[in-house]
Amino acid sequence: MLIAAMDDGRLISLVSPDFTRSELNLLRNRKRFYCPVCRSPVRLRLGSKKKWHFSHHPKYPCIIETEPESTAHLSGKEDLFQWTKANGRTPELEHYIPEIHQRPDIYLPGIHPIALEYQCSTISEEKLHARTCGYMSVGIRPIWILGGARQKKIRCLARLSGFESQTIQFSNRNAPSHPFFSPYYVSYYYPAEKRICFAGHLHPVSKTMYITQEINHMIPSARPHQLIMPALPFSPESFKQDWADCKRRYRLSVPSHLSREEYWLRQQAYRLRMNYSGFPSFVGLPHRDYIHFSLPPCLWQMWIYFVMTHSPPDLWLTPDMLMRTGKIGGTETVFLRRSLPLCPKRSLAGVIKTYLEQLVKLNKAEGKEGAYRFRASRIAGDLPLDQLLKQDRLVLDSLERVHGQMNK
Ligand SMILES: [Zn+2]
Repeated sequence: MLIAAMDDGRLISLVSPDFTRSELNLLRNRKRFYCPVCRSPVRLRLGSKKKWHFSHHPKYPCIIETEPESTAHLSGKEDLFQWTKANGRTPELEHYIPEIHQRPDIYLPGIHPIALEYQCSTISEEKLHARTCGYMSVGIRPIWILGGARQKKIRCLARLSGFESQTIQFSNRNAPSHPFFSPYYVSYYYPAEKRICFAGHLHPVSKTMYITQEINHMIPSARPHQLIMPALPFSPESFKQDWADCKRRYRLSVPSHLSREEYWLRQQAYRLRMNYSGFPSFVGLPHRDYIHFSLPPCLWQMWIYFVMTHSPPDLWLTPDMLMRTGKIGGTETVFLRRSLPLCPKRSLAGVIKTYLEQLVKLNKAEGKEGAYRFRASRIAGDLPLDQLLKQDRLVLDSLERVHGQMNK
């Protein structure tokens, strides 16, 4: 904690450099400090390694659950506090909200109040979900900024594991101008470098990996409203390359660590005598909406392909009918929803419809009154791998072209 109450009830803050170490030392000898939330005594820590802070005695933990605060957490919190203040906001540190027993790192009051949470440590998905819902239940918008040390990248790919994917936000700054533009992003803050990083244009390629395009701002040149509506420039060319590369790896991958869903799908392919890696290029199409499925587009779209190629040719399928297929066992399905508590909720049948409409645009399927079927003459048989890889790239160009024509 960076603030505490004193015997007379006044608050003392360690954020603004109001006190020197010797002044604080004096104060520590004369006064007692209390947690503003639970009123139990807290200790003033004036070490040289860590930022000065107050901490609960392990014997008297706080009534609200808190995680141990690292140096990065304390200094990030202070930076974000000073930054919002310097930009005309009236931030409050560790403001306690009694109705929900929560205390955000930084609270920004206003017509649309905001709770800023700077999350460096790992917490459970359940806990993050509960805190997010808590804020929302009292009309506060939560914004989670992840500690820079949490950012994990492999080439163009970002890994969001555990609770991290629940911090994905949706920016409604611009109407999507490009068919592969994605308004989904996560935010990171690096206190040592004073840098904010937005990992934007998220497109999942597995349960935890996403293609992303980043933008960085040094904190003095950033504005707090960017946390909600960051400008996320999009490079279609590099996205198409990244997408085609991921698909290539998917086709060529040796099945060693199969997820349960992948294993199931391979079984189905075997049963239906389909070539698992030789799926046509219109399986595994990208679209911003597909983030709402927990499984990557290649997998659930492959299932739709299996169902549609094995249905009677005169059967028209609706998204709802497709949603009822793909049961893996128990409650598990190919069409499992990804938990995105901070984003507007989409109907999953609507997301499937987006895909079927893409197939119509590519002339692979036809639609009639909300139902669809493949154009059998348009579905080629097994193609050699080198041709498939080429087409994986070309199909993206085709989608781009159709989108361009439709918006003229
Ligand atoms: Zn307390």
